[in-house]
Amino acid sequence: MDETLKNIITNLGERQIGMDEEFRFHCTECGKCCIHREDILLNPRDIYSMSKELGMSPGELFLKYCETYIGDGSRIPIVRIKPKGSVKRCPLLKDRKCSVHKSKPSVCALFPIGRVLQVGDTEGNIREVSVDDVQYIFSTPGCGDATERHTVRGWLGAFGIPLQDEFFIMWQKIIVETSMAYRRLEMKASPHVMQLAWQACFKGLYLHYDTGEDFLPQFEDNVKSFQGLLHKM
Ligand code: SF4
Ligand code: SF4
Repeated sequence: MDETLKNIITNLGERQIGMDEEFRFHCTECGKCCIHREDILLNPRDIYSMSKELGMSPGELFLKYCETYIGDGSRIPIVRIKPKGSVKRCPLLKDRKCSVHKSKPSVCALFPIGRVLQVGDTEGNIREVSVDDVQYIFSTPGCGDATERHTVRGWLGAFGIPLQDEFFIMWQKIIVETSMAYRRLEMKASPHVMQLAWQACFKGLYLHYDTGEDFLPQFEDNVKSFQGLLHKM
């Protein structure tokens, strides 16, 4: 298991926050969270929403602002925003403002709240999960000030993140399922076959969207096609 994830799970109890519990935070818009960043990871819905706001296709957005790598622990393609220059500035920061404010990536929109869903058990089995199993964490962010009071419910609502986020559940499940399948596959497949498998995941799940159509039905279709392929591997 990835070390960061292990620490989050170990300290989950003390950082966990209920949906209607208050936390204090006020963003002073200093812009510091958009520099020195190499960890703005994107999920397929982030890519779809940002592409739509910027009037480009997911493929064009990827080429212009993102990069992909294979996760050390997960062994699946991870997509992140490609930082610029020595200060590792997010390329979407323009004139000190986020140019995709209305559709900013979930990690940016949620900050300083985090979401955790334990899909796999300690034996490595995938367990049945629902939206009620999502846990929220709050860590003192070390920025802004504490002059505002919020609840998780209000914070998510303000950024248009659904409380009953079916996509988040499906995405966490597909990540765990794909990670297990790819780690097994890597033990027996040639590098060429692994390249094909990673490309199928990257193109099929992250990029194959028409921004003129709704996201979720397309994501569900892409997952079905990808799972068909996964079961043949
Ligand atoms: S996407 Fe927007 S909020 Fe997130 S790091 Fe980039 S500029 Fe900042
Ligand atoms: S979230 Fe924090 S670091 Fe980012 S702009 Fe607001 S106060 Fe600054």
